[in-house]
Amino acid sequence: MKNIVVVGAGTMGNGIAHVFAMTGYETTLVDISEEALERALKTIDKNLDRMLKKEKITPEDKAATLQRIHTSTSLQEATAQADFAVEAATERLDLKLKIFEDLDQYAPQGVILASNTSSISITKIASATRRPERVIGMHFMNPVPVMKLVEVIRAYGTTDEVTETVMELAKKLGKTPVEVNDYPGFVANRILMPMINEAIYTLHEGVAGAEEIDTVMKLGMAHPMGPLQLADFIGLDVCLSILRVMYEGFGNPKYAPCPLLVNMVTAGKLGRKSGEGFYSYE
Ligand code: NAD
Repeated sequence: MKNIVVVGAGTMGNGIAHVFAMTGYETTLVDISEEALERALKTIDKNLDRMLKKEKITPEDKAATLQRIHTSTSLQEATAQADFAVEAATERLDLKLKIFEDLDQYAPQGVILASNTSSISITKIASATRRPERVIGMHFMNPVPVMKLVEVIRAYGTTDEVTETVMELAKKLGKTPVEVNDYPGFVANRILMPMINEAIYTLHEGVAGAEEIDTVMKLGMAHPMGPLQLADFIGLDVCLSILRVMYEGFGNPKYAPCPLLVNMVTAGKLGRKSGEGFYSYE
C-alpha cells in the first residue's frame, strides 16, 4: 500500500490523514468543501508543531509529513490510484451509502474500503458496494494522533484476510487495534454511551449536580474525565444519535436517551462546540 484516500476532512479526517502521512503513506484528503480542506491542513500543521515542541518529531519529519498530504474535492480523481480508502465524512446513513457506492465505482478492484463511523452498521454500508467482503470498520478515537485505540469492525461478510490486513495497517500506524463484530455501538460506544446516559439521568433526577457527578467518576473510578464533561467534548448531538442507533438496533428500552439530553440537543446546547452543554465554554 502506498496511496491512501481519506474521505472527509473534519475533526477525524484531518487526524487520520495526519497519522497516515506521518507513517510514510501518500495521503489524499477529499472533502466537498474547499474550506474544510484548508482548515484541515492548518490543523495538521498546528498538531505537528505541538509534536515538534514535545520533541516527538524533528523539523524534517514535519516537512516530509506535510509533503505527503494532498487535497482534492474530486473523489473520482483521488480514488483512481488508491490502495486503501477510509471514510470519515459526516455521520449520516444516506451520505455514507452514496460515498461507498462511489468509492466502489472509482477505486481499483481489490482495494479495501473502510469507514470510521461511530454508530452506523458496517454491514449496511458494505451493502452499497459490489465488494462487501472488502468493506470494514476502522474506528479511530478523537484526537486521532494521540489516542492509541482503533476498533476494527468486521461486517457480516468481511473476510479474514481483509480483517488481518487492516489490523496490521493499524499497528503500522502505531495504534493498538481491537477486532470486534458489527453490532450497534460496536464495543466502545456500547459501553460508553449507556454510562453517559445514566450520568445524564442522575443529573436529571437531581441526585447530584454536574460537577459532583463528574467528580465521583473521576476520583472514585479514576476516569481522566467525568462522563458529563466527556459528553460535552464528544458533542451532545453525537451522543444522542449514537444512543438512538442502539435503541433502534437492539429494540431495548435500556438504551432510550434521557429526556434531558433530547431537550438540550433540541435547544442547541451541543457541548463544547456550541459554547454550552453541561458546562459553559464561553
Ligand atoms: P466533521 O463534521 O468534523 O467532518 C465531516 C466532514 O465530512 C466535513 O468536513 C464535511 O464537509 C465532509 N463531508 C460531508 N459530505 C461529504 C462528501 N460527500 N464527501 C466528502 N466529504 C464530505 O465530523 P467528524 O467528527 O470528523 O466525524 C466524521 C466521522 O467520524 C463520522 O462518521 C463520526 O461518527 C466518526 N467519528 C467521530 C468521532 C468524534 O469524536 N468526532 C470519533 C470517532 C468517529
